[in-house]
Amino acid sequence: MVGVRHPPDHGNNVSISTVKAKRMNTFYQEIKRIKEELGNNIVIPAHHYQRDEIVDFADFIGDSYKLALDCSKTDARYIVFCGVHFMAEGASVLAGHNQIVIAPDTGAGCPMADMIKTEDAGKAYDLLTRECPREIVPVVYMNSSAEMKAFCGARKGTVCTSSNAARIVKSFLDEGRSVLFSPDFNLGVNTANELGLAREEIALLNPNGTLKEGYPARAKMFLWPGFCYVHQCFSIEDITYLRKEYPDIRIIVHPECREEVVNAADHAGSTSMIYNTVRDSPPGTVWAIGTEYSFVNRMAWEFKEKTVVPLKKSLCTDMNRTTLEKLFNVMVSVERHFKGKGELYNVITVPESLRKDAGDALGRMMDIVENKVT
Ligand code: SF4
Repeated sequence: MVGVRHPPDHGNNVSISTVKAKRMNTFYQEIKRIKEELGNNIVIPAHHYQRDEIVDFADFIGDSYKLALDCSKTDARYIVFCGVHFMAEGASVLAGHNQIVIAPDTGAGCPMADMIKTEDAGKAYDLLTRECPREIVPVVYMNSSAEMKAFCGARKGTVCTSSNAARIVKSFLDEGRSVLFSPDFNLGVNTANELGLAREEIALLNPNGTLKEGYPARAKMFLWPGFCYVHQCFSIEDITYLRKEYPDIRIIVHPECREEVVNAADHAGSTSMIYNTVRDSPPGTVWAIGTEYSFVNRMAWEFKEKTVVPLKKSLCTDMNRTTLEKLFNVMVSVERHFKGKGELYNVITVPESLRKDAGDALGRMMDIVENKVT
């Protein structure tokens, strides 16, 4: 277990009833007991954006790429995935047939992942394949449905994450191919900038898969117009305000932020990169972080010898749907199932018809990133 600190202490908080505090403590103690009892039979991966009380129970914490990699390596029978639905689906695709992926809240989704449907992606892919001189490869961000991952896998495309998007896209551009990049427009533009693509080498698609009029014939990246509301909300004004308040501040943002925000920041990178950069900085440094608030708040708590402030308070409501009570409920179900005394619920499965292609897309990403292919 990573960093179990203490049971949540609500006893002195007059705004929370004693009854509620006792219930929370019971959940905490029971989750701990079940986890210890099941030992190596269970792992709990948790995304950085999860609540503190959930992260306390995590065997591994990370961004979507790290969690996918960690899940592909575990042989625990039960994977209780604390994140959002597409992440648990990804773990299910990579899981062995004897492994079961469970989500504390199956309703925790991702609005950005829902901004692309395979039907519209298919229209775009067919159109581009017809009209463009270069071969088209579909690359989908990890924050997407299993259907979209399978769509890419079936067309020799791949998945990418914010930590490896530039590397993945570059590998295809270097082969003389063009990339249909979805669903996050901001990550697409920021990746194109990182790779030094000119404006006329980028084209924007419509949400129905058609091309904006007058797209450049030289385009190498075709971008879907999706976005993450949690990161889209950061602005240049937020950066200007904090630079005035703290003259020595360093600003670090996630590449799902708008292009102008990324350009005005000092650094941009995945949640793992953000975490490592702040962790490795000297004591006394001052940081503003442009990403999900639960994560920023945890870093402020963890790195007390530095000043860590949010660029703006921006919460992902879906990530916050996973509560201690919901984790407790699925843990009880896992314990009963393990002892042969009950059914499991909240099991995440991916239809067999999608597993192979989605697995190919995820596997191709890992091969490129882990240097197994060039
Ligand atoms: S932070 Fe944004 S991309 Fe991540 S799960 Fe929430 S809505 Fe989706």
